[in-house]
Amino acid sequence: MVDLISQYEKIKPSVDKAISNVIHNATFINGPEVHSFKDDLQEYLNVKHVIPCANGTDALQISLMSLGLKPGDEVITPSFTYIATTEVIALLRLKPVFVDVQKDTFCIDPKELEKAITPNTKAIVPVHLYGQAANMNEIMSIANKHNLFVIEDNAQAIGSDFKKSDGSTVKTGTIGTIGCTSFFPSKNLGCYGDGGAIFTNDDDLANTIRQIANHGQSKKYYHDIVGCNSRLDSIQAAVLKIKLKELDNYIESRRNVAKYYDDAFSSLKGVTIPFRSDESKHVFHQYTLILEGIDRDELNRYLAECNVPSMIYYPVPAHRQKMFQEFNSEDLELPVTDWLTQRVISLPIHTEMEEEQLKHISTSFINYLNKK
Ligand SMILES: *Cc1c(COP(=O)(O)O)cnc(C)c1O
Repeated sequence: MVDLISQYEKIKPSVDKAISNVIHNATFINGPEVHSFKDDLQEYLNVKHVIPCANGTDALQISLMSLGLKPGDEVITPSFTYIATTEVIALLRLKPVFVDVQKDTFCIDPKELEKAITPNTKAIVPVHLYGQAANMNEIMSIANKHNLFVIEDNAQAIGSDFKKSDGSTVKTGTIGTIGCTSFFPSKNLGCYGDGGAIFTNDDDLANTIRQIANHGQSKKYYHDIVGCNSRLDSIQAAVLKIKLKELDNYIESRRNVAKYYDDAFSSLKGVTIPFRSDESKHVFHQYTLILEGIDRDELNRYLAECNVPSMIYYPVPAHRQKMFQEFNSEDLELPVTDWLTQRVISLPIHTEMEEEQLKHISTSFINYLNKK
């Protein structure tokens, strides 16, 4: 699905030198690379504070911890997402309230979101799934009306531009109260191990977040609040500093792949190509089609025989996971989520795809449909 080796080959000299520098200086933890990458990312995102941490799941957890919520407080989130988004809510003894997504954007449906608000609702966690931004204009206006925090799960959409209602363009992850991302290797901005970051424009929250990520410490060996230990390694920061300079090029490569697939698939019966919203720039962490009246398992097997990988993101939505049984979530009616779960399929997309590969993938896909 991805080709991280070819991508590395193109930046090898600078990456090797940067990693070797960290080793020679033995500044493995909190080295100058971490601060310098943090500064670069703040500038790229045009956000006041970036707080690096150990992974995207920690970023979400620490963000929720920083809001001063009480056990049982409700947090609204889509069910159609990677498990990390929803898992941290339950881990903190908050109550995940799953709502349905929109068929076109795959992201949380603002109308369903507003219906799910109760006096116990404290926060919303929208997910910019597959690189397509959620409808943040409507989400923010609902959040402001009901005085709710918004934590954007931006793990799949870093670098995406979003047009706000006031006409200004900002980066996703900087619109809500807090934004979170993951630097997992296969993400659009990935490192060579685990990594994550938290973004906010709120000075007080930024201080609290920094403190929580560092054992709740206010000064060395003085721990005021319960926190955790979540850091980005210097080696990962050194890699990310180099890859951040490439991020816009990486996004363009992904968008070109998507364009190629769109042209190949747009007129096929039973196949819906990814939606583009006027408000946001799709950064194509995944290229995901909707199949109607097509046997997805058989297609997947056929593609595998042609040496074409394909994936289902995600085969079981959160509300149907055993993990959430105590919330009786499996009885929930989330028709669009269930409908999509049974019909989506993702094709390979990455920064190093050659025209020949694209041709082989799309031809194999079309051949399967023609066989029918
Ligand atoms: C990858 C991902 C995460 C978690 O990131 P990790 O770094 O793997 O912990 C959270 N949410 C979404 C939507 C993701 O895609």
